[in-house]
Amino acid sequence: MRVEIVAVGTELLLGQIADTNSAWLGEQLALAGVDSHFHQAVGDNQARIVLALRTALSRSDAVIVCGGLGPTQDDITRESIAQVMNVPLVRDEELVEQIRKMFASRQRVMPENNLRQADVPVGASIIGQTRGTAPGLICPLGNKVIYAVPGVPHEMQEMFTRGILPDLRRRMAEQGDEAVIKSRVIRTWGASESALAEALADRVEELDHRGSDDGSTLTIAFLASGIEGIKVRLTARAPTEAQVDQMIAEEERQVRAVLAERLGDVVFGVDDQAMEHAVARLLVDSKLTLGLAESLTGGLIGARLVNVPGSSRWFRGCVVAYDSAVKHAILGVPPGPVVSAQAAEAMAVGARTALDSQIGLGITGVAGPDDQEGVRPGTVFVGIAPPEGEAFSRELHLPGDRDRVRQFAAISALDLLRRTLRGAPPQ
Ligand code: ATP
Ligand code: MG
Repeated sequence: MRVEIVAVGTELLLGQIADTNSAWLGEQLALAGVDSHFHQAVGDNQARIVLALRTALSRSDAVIVCGGLGPTQDDITRESIAQVMNVPLVRDEELVEQIRKMFASRQRVMPENNLRQADVPVGASIIGQTRGTAPGLICPLGNKVIYAVPGVPHEMQEMFTRGILPDLRRRMAEQGDEAVIKSRVIRTWGASESALAEALADRVEELDHRGSDDGSTLTIAFLASGIEGIKVRLTARAPTEAQVDQMIAEEERQVRAVLAERLGDVVFGVDDQAMEHAVARLLVDSKLTLGLAESLTGGLIGARLVNVPGSSRWFRGCVVAYDSAVKHAILGVPPGPVVSAQAAEAMAVGARTALDSQIGLGITGVAGPDDQEGVRPGTVFVGIAPPEGEAFSRELHLPGDRDRVRQFAAISALDLLRRTLRGAPPQ
């Protein structure tokens, strides 16, 4: 079953509003296992709406047209559909009554124009309105169908779920074309997109050429998400949910194994698990408490950690030691340069002591745009004071402007902590 979305409204073409309806519908269709190969946007012009609908019907089994069902003269979706169906519009008396009642209940005078919303192409059925005045339409054309819904997002969404999706499912069942699609996102930090792609190239190739009797498919895609790392998205499609779940679980296992072997401990979570969730889980499991000392990140790391519910169990607190004098006085950082490995390590030890935690993490560096103490922007030192043994540190060179350097520094420090808690800090 292929469904095409046609968004109607000149304001979409002029860029006055973004077409969030098509984005939402696209996502819902994918979740329902429906293919959607084309989206169109078209202005409030009958000839062009008719052309868009005909084009859509020529290459898809169903069309969802949203917008242009309102009461004003530029709302001409109904007329356009009637033209494509080659039938007249007739006024539905029941709808007239409903619209009158709606206005009466709000104690408003009904403009005559609103009755246009009771016009229905002959042969179409109605998706009753629960929130506004414009009803939706289900318009059969042979074995194809045009669905029309209002442009107002919450009205459109409610009608899609109540009126369109069940009809689509029925049609798919009739064609033996039911499918479930699910995705799983594997989240990574520390490897480049090209390194990930190279590591998984054989697997991607294999999946591309894999045939299946039941139309099931599995794909791997890479999504660079900037300061949140690079995501590897697995998408499976199969006739049943059980099959899809099994395909995804199996593929996730393989992908994790390949990445661990080729690139080390780069996977920190799945789906919406952020780096702080990974760190939190490890701290809870190991029953350790954490204290922070932040310089260039100014509390970003602490803010991320307290995003996690229950963080008071393992997060002791954070010293934002921005001025060098604070680093020396509160954290006991010895005299000398404060953007250095020694300073980061001393900050970690100082945080552990000052905040009475079992682990300390310290971070210092240059966010830019100017050099500091002759050190270039993007140079960052992360120190860790573990529960046992010597403090150690890593030097990082991060790209971007001031904001990106600080964000990258925060997640990099959390990743170093994560790997340390897993027993293997990166070299
Ligand atoms: P109404 O009965 O409210 O007039 P309608 O079916 O005529 O509904 P439109 O007039 O096309 O719908 O759009 C109504 C409002 O819905 C627009 O002003 C806009 O805010 C929003 N809207 C319309 N289309 C979209 C879209 N594709 N994406 C996001 N918002 C939209
Ligand atoms: Mg309108």
